[in-house]
Amino acid sequence: MFNVETIRKDFPILSRKVNGKPLVYLDNAATSQTPQQVIDVIVDYYSNYNANIHRGVHTLSQEATDKYEQARYKIQAHVNAKFAHEIIFTSGTTHGINLVANGFSSLLKKGDEIIVSALEHHSNIVPWQMLCERTGALLKVIPMNQEGELVMAEYDKLLSKNTKLVFVNHISNALGTINPIEYIIEKAHQVGAAVLIDGAQSCPHIKPDVQALDVDFYVTSAHKMCGPTGQGMLYGKESWLKKLPPYQGGGEMIAEVTFEKTTYADLPHKFEAGTPNICGGIAFGAAIDYMNHIGFDAISDYEHELLEYATTQLLQIEDLKIYGTSKEKTSVISFNLEGIHPYDVGTILDKLGIAVRTGHHCAQPIMAFYKIPGTVRASFSFYNTKAEIDVLVAAVKKAKMMLS
Ligand SMILES: *Cc1c(COP(=O)(O)O)cnc(C)c1O
Repeated sequence: MFNVETIRKDFPILSRKVNGKPLVYLDNAATSQTPQQVIDVIVDYYSNYNANIHRGVHTLSQEATDKYEQARYKIQAHVNAKFAHEIIFTSGTTHGINLVANGFSSLLKKGDEIIVSALEHHSNIVPWQMLCERTGALLKVIPMNQEGELVMAEYDKLLSKNTKLVFVNHISNALGTINPIEYIIEKAHQVGAAVLIDGAQSCPHIKPDVQALDVDFYVTSAHKMCGPTGQGMLYGKESWLKKLPPYQGGGEMIAEVTFEKTTYADLPHKFEAGTPNICGGIAFGAAIDYMNHIGFDAISDYEHELLEYATTQLLQIEDLKIYGTSKEKTSVISFNLEGIHPYDVGTILDKLGIAVRTGHHCAQPIMAFYKIPGTVRASFSFYNTKAEIDVLVAAVKKAKMMLS
């Protein structure tokens, strides 16, 4: 049974105070908090078996290697990849995207087209612009509507035999919109294009099934799903990962090195140059265990309840506007008070112990679309409560009084 009060006890940080007030942490779309079960795994690693992996004959190295590779199996099972070697450990979503974008440098030519969406995080825009500069390929953008949804009729029109790659996020970090990725993937495949899904915002809420989706690449970060920062994963179909050249050169990724010629290691090591974040990978596995233990269905249901409650309560405040009103959305509410800068609202909320994000949320094109400098974003996790939402609503009312 899902019991939020029991769950909250797993997160030591939730009992701290900020500015003399109990912390109300509503910045989960930026990073999630870490349960004791994951913290224990990190402490255990550095206390008991810290060692470099894959090369050592000694016990510590073997223990660390085993745990690290077990984490890869956990991630494989979590996203339902066919092979464990289709899971590449990365430092996060940004790293995974750059790895793929870099790999496509040698596969694209002038006149090829890449499609991204208007709802992207900067990390899913800039690497593709750089790829276009290197190759002469063209970047096309699926437009959005006022509700913050992608316009699929326009996507259909953008697709052609020149389309080589399509990149969209599963869920928008700025607005919470859940994009119709099944449709996007199917249509892209009809013209022979590969698809990369940015799952940084979906993995905290939804268990992806990469085989059912038939997606070519899927990337995410551990720190948005109860894991550590500086750790993430890239899923790639075996056929694609074999085709792409290595991203970085160094130790771990080679089979044999001479000054005349170097051959590369097999998957997944071909893409894992240098000593990785060993503890981070193991802790990522522990975070997946933790979330599975709570259950993704229970998590989504509860978060949806929080979203509906918060939406209803916030909309009772006069002159408050919510951006991103898609029917399909996760527990993210981006809003503004008319005539008041989001930064000023965020500052007052912080004084009251409430952590929200203000600004453009690494998605300036969305802010430009709405002609606003930014928003206040409250994003809820399964360890938040309705009582915390009440605190937020009261604080927004107070901010409004103080600032208008
Ligand atoms: C957070 C986020 C990223 C970037 O993730 P990093 O962990 O900073 O690499 C990319 N896309 C989306 C949708 C995000 O929410």
